[in-house]
Amino acid sequence: MSSVIYGPVPSWRLGRSLGIDLLSTKGKTCSFDCIYCQLGKTVHPLTERRQFVSLDRLAAELEGVKDIAADYATFSGVGEPTLASNLGEAIELVRSILGLPVAVLTNSSLMTREDVRHELSLADVVVAKLDAPSNELLQQINRPVIACTYDEIVRAIMLFREEYQGKLALQIMFVELNKGCAIEMARIAEQFSADEIQCNTPLRPCAVQPLTPENISEIKRAFYRHGNVITIYEASRPEVVPLDLEETLRRRPQ
Ligand code: SF4
Repeated sequence: MSSVIYGPVPSWRLGRSLGIDLLSTKGKTCSFDCIYCQLGKTVHPLTERRQFVSLDRLAAELEGVKDIAADYATFSGVGEPTLASNLGEAIELVRSILGLPVAVLTNSSLMTREDVRHELSLADVVVAKLDAPSNELLQQINRPVIACTYDEIVRAIMLFREEYQGKLALQIMFVELNKGCAIEMARIAEQFSADEIQCNTPLRPCAVQPLTPENISEIKRAFYRHGNVITIYEASRPEVVPLDLEETLRRRPQ
């Protein structure tokens, strides 16, 4: 049986990040099929939440990594973590056993659900994806398999922001298709009062080319009204050695 915990990985956003994959499926399970996904095609398109990994199994694995040095325990992995129906309980379990701050990386598509917003609110950091300023571009870039519109996702993130006391980061993956949308994205980001804006471009092997450091610098300038904007080219990454290289590469191909 493969492990649920992987890394730690050197994250440009979260330092030494111990990964928790609450899906742990063979192949990607997601509500999106983004054109830039490093994990390849969504082989398990899913729109409803269910349990993939039991809390007993997670607890047993957490006991084995209690002494690992990390800055965050991060829910990510082979797909969209909010598809796991026990995410909220898992967040509390991770915090109680590891004593680390907890982050969740989400594609935002299930934030339209009240139960998902509530469970995400238990995390210390939520990194919410929004790559497009329109429904048309959302369909082209993220290729949702779940029935959701751009307006619904924006409204869900705004609702979450109203309730959430932790750190909300907005992650925008810039590729050729949305390269010219930085000003619109900056305006939308203002509505969320995000604590951090993360300007990303796909540097790991995938089906699309990354933008250049010059492109990303220009995009960053569009976010000049935000106090805290980080970009993938400027951020530093700590040196870390993963516990199990194979399990880590399954979630984070080089
Ligand atoms: S949301 Fe994340 S895991 Fe899902 S397809 Fe997009 S990049 Fe891949």
